[in-house]
Amino acid sequence: MKVAIFGAGVAGLSAAIELVDRGHTVELYEKRKVLGGKVSVWKDSDGDSIESGLHIVFGGYTQLQKYLDKIGTGDNYLWKDHSLIYAESDGKQSFFKKANLPSPWAEVVGGLQADFLTMWDKISLIKGLWPALAGNEEYFRSQDHMTYSEWHHLHGASEHSLQKLWRAIALAMNFIEPNVISARPMITIFKYFGTDYAATKFAFFRKNPGDSMIEPMRQYIQSKGGRIFIDARLSRFELNDDKTIKHAVLRDGHTVEADAYISALPVHSVKKIVPNEWLEHDYFRNLHQFVGSPVANCQLWFDKKITDTDNLMFSQGTTFATFADVSITCPEDFQAGMGSATGGSVMSLVLAPAHQLLDLPNEVITEMVMKEIHDRFPKSRDAKLLKSTIVKIPQSVYKAVPDVDQYRPDQVSPIRNFFLAGDYTDQHYLASMEGAALSGRQVAEKLHQRMGG
Ligand SMILES: Cc1cc2nc3c(=O)[nH]c(=O)nc-3n(C[C@H](O)[C@H](O)[C@H](O)COP(=O)(O)OP(=O)(O)OC[C@H]3O[C@@H](n4cnc5c(N)ncnc54)[C@H](O)[C@@H]3O)c2cc1C
Repeated sequence: MKVAIFGAGVAGLSAAIELVDRGHTVELYEKRKVLGGKVSVWKDSDGDSIESGLHIVFGGYTQLQKYLDKIGTGDNYLWKDHSLIYAESDGKQSFFKKANLPSPWAEVVGGLQADFLTMWDKISLIKGLWPALAGNEEYFRSQDHMTYSEWHHLHGASEHSLQKLWRAIALAMNFIEPNVISARPMITIFKYFGTDYAATKFAFFRKNPGDSMIEPMRQYIQSKGGRIFIDARLSRFELNDDKTIKHAVLRDGHTVEADAYISALPVHSVKKIVPNEWLEHDYFRNLHQFVGSPVANCQLWFDKKITDTDNLMFSQGTTFATFADVSITCPEDFQAGMGSATGGSVMSLVLAPAHQLLDLPNEVITEMVMKEIHDRFPKSRDAKLLKSTIVKIPQSVYKAVPDVDQYRPDQVSPIRNFFLAGDYTDQHYLASMEGAALSGRQVAEKLHQRMGG
């Protein structure tokens, strides 16, 4: 069977891996010149790796890890110390470090030892978060009607712990504030964090996600006969009388004919290519419930090390929510002699919430970020900023706001030869690399069930 996949992010690449393994003829069409979508990384004219966004892998990412093992890159990332590190003013750091005990004692004892929480924060947190720790998938779904802030206060947890601990987590997960994000994804994370030690440990790619994951995926697909086309944007579908797809039309006018078609586009792009004739189905109309979260990623090259922390860091009250010194966390890229790096820190910072930043000139954003960097990392005051870059993504992952989860579409559409993959489709993870990988596996399995071959 011939399958045409549109969109070469993690979802499209995962679907392609599954389908070439099953012996199908696979063609993958990507609109950009670089593969990877939101995980894409490219080299600029200085030879520096520019990331769409700082990415980490969690221990619970079993599907993604299966793919990485399959393509021979299972050790392309490095696990870090299991703690949440918050950068504070004047170079101080606060820690939420899991104790070396089985869950949930690892978290309870870790929480009790956290120096940036008051005793009341700790007691109210343990009491307040208990329903999340004891909850199951059904309970999490039932909480999707309220924001996380509402849920937090309803369960008697303190405002201080919300601002100090969880705000940064909401911004890291979905780039939106706790009073905007649904309770569901947050309490699901608490469950993992509080009951499964291994699932919440995290790792960085040895180089960057592009070289360590996307490029090996490309090589694997092509080695199995899959064909990948870049600069190949899907424009529209031409339909048969029964509204199934006759062929796809690319922006340059080329047509693509296949037995089955998979959209692995982000949801805001899918909406643009759904033919009007299909809008009689709730399935396609419901795609309009999703709105992308704006986010930006800033990279700063310094001539000196401004930190020695080999881990992800969080910060609250700053333009950046999560960040790392990738010259330390990713030892095979961003090192002296590679592009602009001279051995100093290379900070990669996720800027969120970003709705007010996107229209600002990059120099203004960099100035704001640098002031905060000087506050959080005093050594930076004596360091020279060699270079800065900013990547803005106006619509990144879908906003996980209350009541939207119910609209996540199944990978099987009402149109017989059309399927969806993507982090926003129905799989048990929030929008993430693991969610995208799961959607790729699910779409391949369901396509196989429906179409045979
Ligand atoms: C700043 C940032 C930080 C993140 N950090 C993490 C993290 O630490 N851990 C984690 O697990 N996840 C993280 N994520 C989320 C993760 O990147 C995404 O959930 C995941 O990569 C989405 O994959 P996807 O394949 O579903 O979609 P996408 O990556 O959006 O891929 C869709 C592809 O379709 C292409 N396309 C669009 N329109 C067309 C068209 N008309 N024709 C052909 N191709 C088209 C796009 O160019 C793109 O390549 C982060 C995201 C961002 C933005």
